[in-house]
Amino acid sequence: MSKDMMPHFDLYQPDTIEAAVDLATRLGGDGWLLGAGQDSYDWLKNRTKRTSAVIELTGIATLKGVRELDGGLEIGALTTLTEIENDPLVRERFGLLSKAAGRVASPQIRNVGTLGGNLCQDTRCWYYRYGVDCYRAGGNMCYADTPEGQNREHAIFGASRCVAVTPSDTANAIVALEGSMVIRHAGGERVVPAAEFFVGPAVNIRRMTVLEPGEILVAVRIPAKWAGATFYFEKVADRAAWDFALLSIAAAFRFDGDRISDASLVCGAVECVPHRLTAVQAALRGSLRNDETSDRVAKLAVEGARPLNFNHFKIPLMENLVRRAIRDA
Ligand SMILES: Cc1cc2nc3c(=O)[nH]c(=O)nc-3n(C[C@H](O)[C@H](O)[C@H](O)COP(=O)(O)OP(=O)(O)OC[C@H]3O[C@@H](n4cnc5c(N)ncnc54)[C@H](O)[C@@H]3O)c2cc1C
Ligand code: SF4
Repeated sequence: MSKDMMPHFDLYQPDTIEAAVDLATRLGGDGWLLGAGQDSYDWLKNRTKRTSAVIELTGIATLKGVRELDGGLEIGALTTLTEIENDPLVRERFGLLSKAAGRVASPQIRNVGTLGGNLCQDTRCWYYRYGVDCYRAGGNMCYADTPEGQNREHAIFGASRCVAVTPSDTANAIVALEGSMVIRHAGGERVVPAAEFFVGPAVNIRRMTVLEPGEILVAVRIPAKWAGATFYFEKVADRAAWDFALLSIAAAFRFDGDRISDASLVCGAVECVPHRLTAVQAALRGSLRNDETSDRVAKLAVEGARPLNFNHFKIPLMENLVRRAIRDA
């Protein structure tokens, strides 16, 4: 068996959102939604996941592009990461998202990879990607959370049987910007806050988002609240390009003179969902921007962390990213 060859499936290429929703409803769990396939093709070529039908969304023109919306923006789910990185409105108002999109994978993947695919991609846990029968795959153990488990990339927060982390770089920026997800289904539309869109293993160990079969993410809305704020994004990975985060931080600040009047901070690759630093945000409001504040809140950021055998390094790394966000934003 060649692992490079995808098994046969029926390919549907709708050119309207209505037709796509109709197909997704009809096919239910058998209808694999496809953006640019940069996550999907791995699964299908490796034959670790199979499907009998693929619904390719890239022919739906209305799902592409960046639009003004009440001082904020609405970004179509089929907009590519390169378009988001370079869009003048995204850059001017929400440089945080432009920066995060520009740090995904490689230029080639960003040129085709879509925002929707980036947000809805599955976790990169080695074991799961290579087809072992772990909890997330329907089995009864976690291979990463064992004494010998290769868990350098895995979670230090929010584990519940599974210790996999969110792989999406844009997800953290969108949660920090208090965005929301526009979801279409046969009955109409629902809008879900980005912070509630991603689900951890305690909620559902078999999926990464709230999307049900038959539902399609059609757009992301970013409200005006953080437009033009002072931002900081940093992603630490083993390689500068073509690599997932070992840890990342997406932060937005408002200043009043020397003081921080408001802050929104989210870390990536420490939990199965974007990890909001709620205690840090509360402690920062009204604080002076100085080393004493940074040291104090850096400790708060890692309270409750539970490292695995090979990822203790994430604790000092996370503290340092919080310090750097406050100092260098
Ligand atoms: C070598 C390599 C390196 C990578 N590095 C990074 C990285 O550093 N950071 C990072 O964030 N990502 C990374 N990725 C992951 C991913 O390929 C890209 O993030 C890309 O943006 C995914 O977009 P896509 O359109 O190709 O997704 P697809 O593969 O088309 O879709 C991904 C998933 O989302 C679902 N989906 C797609 N669109 C929708 C929609 N509109 N509604 C509902 N569900 C949908 C699909 O069904 C599928 O399950 C990497 C991938 C590779 C192969
Ligand atoms: S971390 Fe999650 S995905 Fe990875 S082996 Fe454990 S249960 Fe499976």
